[in-house]
Amino acid sequence: MTAQALEQRELAVVIGLEVHVQLETATKIFCSCSTEPAEDEEPNTRVCPVCLGLPGALPVLNEAAVESAVKIGKALNADIAEDTRFHRKNYYYPDLPKNFQITQYDAPICADGTLEVSVEGTRRDIGITRAHLEEDPGSLQHKGGSIDTADYTLVNYNRAGTPLVEIVTEPDFRSPQETRAFLAKLEEVLEYLGVFDATRDGSLRIDANISLVPADEVDGDGTISGEALEAANRTEVKNISSHKGAEKALAYEVTRQKNAIQRGRAVEQETRHWDESRGITVSMRSKEEEKDYRYFREADLPPLQVAHWKEEIPIPELPDARRERFHTEYGIDEESASKLTSTKEVADFFEDVAAEFDADLAATWVADNLLGELNYRDMQITDVSDRLDEFTRLVELVAADEVTTKNAEEIVLREMLDEGKDPDTIVEEEGLGKADDDEIGGFVQEAIDENPDAVSDYHDGEGGALNFLVGQVMQKSQGSADPGTVNQLLRERLDE
Ligand SMILES: [Zn+2]
Repeated sequence: MTAQALEQRELAVVIGLEVHVQLETATKIFCSCSTEPAEDEEPNTRVCPVCLGLPGALPVLNEAAVESAVKIGKALNADIAEDTRFHRKNYYYPDLPKNFQITQYDAPICADGTLEVSVEGTRRDIGITRAHLEEDPGSLQHKGGSIDTADYTLVNYNRAGTPLVEIVTEPDFRSPQETRAFLAKLEEVLEYLGVFDATRDGSLRIDANISLVPADEVDGDGTISGEALEAANRTEVKNISSHKGAEKALAYEVTRQKNAIQRGRAVEQETRHWDESRGITVSMRSKEEEKDYRYFREADLPPLQVAHWKEEIPIPELPDARRERFHTEYGIDEESASKLTSTKEVADFFEDVAAEFDADLAATWVADNLLGELNYRDMQITDVSDRLDEFTRLVELVAADEVTTKNAEEIVLREMLDEGKDPDTIVEEEGLGKADDDEIGGFVQEAIDENPDAVSDYHDGEGGALNFLVGQVMQKSQGSADPGTVNQLLRERLDE
């Protein structure tokens, strides 16, 4: 098909992703160096002969990395390979001390899975081609500018050998929005599995393949003929590091490719770099082909039989299933159920609170109050992990009617977060304990004694007088009295 014909036709977007996920293991994938950067660590201090690629050093596979990959495979409904093995991917780059990367090629640990995404109420299954294990290279620091303008470049191997899983999807995405929804969902699942930490810098790195094909080549269910895909030139966009970045980079690329086609120009098959700060993609180099990497078997690592691990390694209830269960088991509406299952820690905490108190009260306090106040302060539940029992105590104070809901929300919770105090201390310091009936009785009598005009207005049948007196009592109690009780006590005294 020529570009000439193409420019007349309506176009459909075809996107596939390669997502590099940094696994949360204690040590690197082929050596015992830590994966956790020390505070203010110096470059090239978290290294050993293996991850520096020194002659004679031999890799030993980290079992925890393999376990994480099996968990990911299970969560993505993928097949776990009977036999999986490692290959060397050969290329020269200063961050790669061995001049090859140990990765997987023809026998990845996981293959043929799916992940369901939902965009504006429409659900679609995205096919997962494969997920394989590999090692991360080191990192480069370009001094005095970018890669093109730097005076010199330093290399740091502290990251070299960090375990990664690369998840490759089918070209199943039909819009940039779908990729964003997929990445958010994937991240949620990975966090539930406990194999990934989204707060770690660079823990998710994304490459995207994108092309435009004539819309009439797409079937009703979204499948596209192999021929149409072959015929379209695609670009690979690298250097994407967030969900939002993926949506923006791909939206830019859709427009760029459409413009080229509509002007009768062919889209170059090339690799492009997403420049986040400028919001554009720029041409990097013509795309390498698989044969350029001269893949061959990694003879230092024996093949691995892990199929039975699928049975032996459990995974937790995943977010979709949990959301559904919260809805049916606790009768929680969809929006709250979504908030409550956003991370495993939030969901676990909700269930702890719901077990002790009432599910509705727990849902309000966790989904609306706690998450709302945390969000307002740009905090996550992980920032208060060690104080969850204090929040449970606050809910207990509310449930036992020892502090009013209003005071608990507006004073106690906020001071807990802003000042780090525990709820009992705040209630005592602020005098928020609910006044008992004797005390309120005293305030009621005072209000009656101090306001004879209002009392006589009340007896003359003026409705506003009672409200005025209730207000006086509430003021005396500093908000700790229950307005209903005050109302009732006042009537009793005035009608005596
Ligand atoms: Zn090492």
